[in-house]
Amino acid sequence: MVKTRELIEKAKKYFPGGVNSPVRSFRAVGMKPIFVKSGKGSKICTNDGKKYIDYCMSWGTLMFGHSDNEILKAVRKQLALGTSYGFTNIFETELAEKICNAIPSMEMIRFVNSGTEATTSAVRLAFRYTGRSKILKFTGCYHGASELFFDRKNYFEIPYNDLSSASSVIKKHYKEIACVIVEPIAGNMGVILPEKDFLAGLRVICDKYKIILIFDEVINGFRITFGSAQSFFRVKPDLTCLGKIIGGGFPVGAFGGKKEIMKKIAPSGNVYQAGTFSGNPITMVAGITTIKKLQITTEGSPCGTDYKLINDRTKCLCNSIKNEAKKNNVDIVINQIGSMFSLFFTKERVINYASAKRQDVKKFKRFYSLIFKQGILFSPSSFESNFISFAHTDKDIEKTVSEVSHIFGRL
Ligand code: PMP
Repeated sequence: MVKTRELIEKAKKYFPGGVNSPVRSFRAVGMKPIFVKSGKGSKICTNDGKKYIDYCMSWGTLMFGHSDNEILKAVRKQLALGTSYGFTNIFETELAEKICNAIPSMEMIRFVNSGTEATTSAVRLAFRYTGRSKILKFTGCYHGASELFFDRKNYFEIPYNDLSSASSVIKKHYKEIACVIVEPIAGNMGVILPEKDFLAGLRVICDKYKIILIFDEVINGFRITFGSAQSFFRVKPDLTCLGKIIGGGFPVGAFGGKKEIMKKIAPSGNVYQAGTFSGNPITMVAGITTIKKLQITTEGSPCGTDYKLINDRTKCLCNSIKNEAKKNNVDIVINQIGSMFSLFFTKERVINYASAKRQDVKKFKRFYSLIFKQGILFSPSSFESNFISFAHTDKDIEKTVSEVSHIFGRL
């Protein structure tokens, strides 16, 4: 059996911090990285022979769990025909059609290879379209690892759910602000729901000052319902960024929106954007299969799935955890919508980054390491979301609740 300690030491020689993405270091929970060998359904297995019920699901990517048979079958068929052409293929148009039908605000689309590429390209497009060069963003929302979102000279930042700050900052600086970018359901400070009228209010202000409203639905896209968060909250952005789910487990990103804006992208316009792997046939085929499977049964899709099933299962898990917390006098707030949820060890409502930060992180770490030992893998940070897939079973939920119950008794 391979020793994880040795794998970590070797990886450290080549990768800063031993990983290729910081959250995989498990530093936020005071632990060490895991090395995943395989995944099937709701479970993953590590190189040191351990098995976990996975609630991270590749950070919200895998709606049908690991190694879904139908996705694998479609990908295998395409693999035999080539893995990357660098030219146009018919699957790009097929996936685009499916996405644009599901999300009508996306009149035109461009595929890219990651969420970061999608948000960065959308913001660049907004800059060029408006002739302005600043972003308004919300503390605790994450839009990818790009200097656009890290260098303070590029943006104004205000608390999530704070419409009055949005209004006053925009009133003062609208001549500089090209776009407002927001996660309609925040997923990068734990799950945080938009308060009533927050998103609709942003739409009204953006219209008034001709600012482009960008919904970063990299996590939200196809997550809580087929039409994504914008259809659930009935607010239409000008541009939408997607990633994760639409690639069926392969690297992907996409941005799209109003034709009038999207036409500025090269080669039809002069905003240059390009990518060797964009629209990669393997990713497109996996994405098409995923979206086909997600198309709800009421729309007559032969293999359609009902979101209600996983949304109810998630609610059931969260309600049971809340009951166990009550029984054991553990202060906990669970934010849940659809199949995404997060646990905060706190008494107060969590509505923005400041309130998320007031949770008891030490308690979370203790909880995390204990539940991990019992074979349950939540996302390894108290500022991340957890996800349920169609592959999670009632048995997974029961086991999780039972382990949570034991641990709450010891916290
Ligand atoms: N936007 C949001 C809302 C995200 O959650 C993420 C990543 N989790 C990104 C953008 C960046 O996506 P990627 O990691 O694929 O670059």
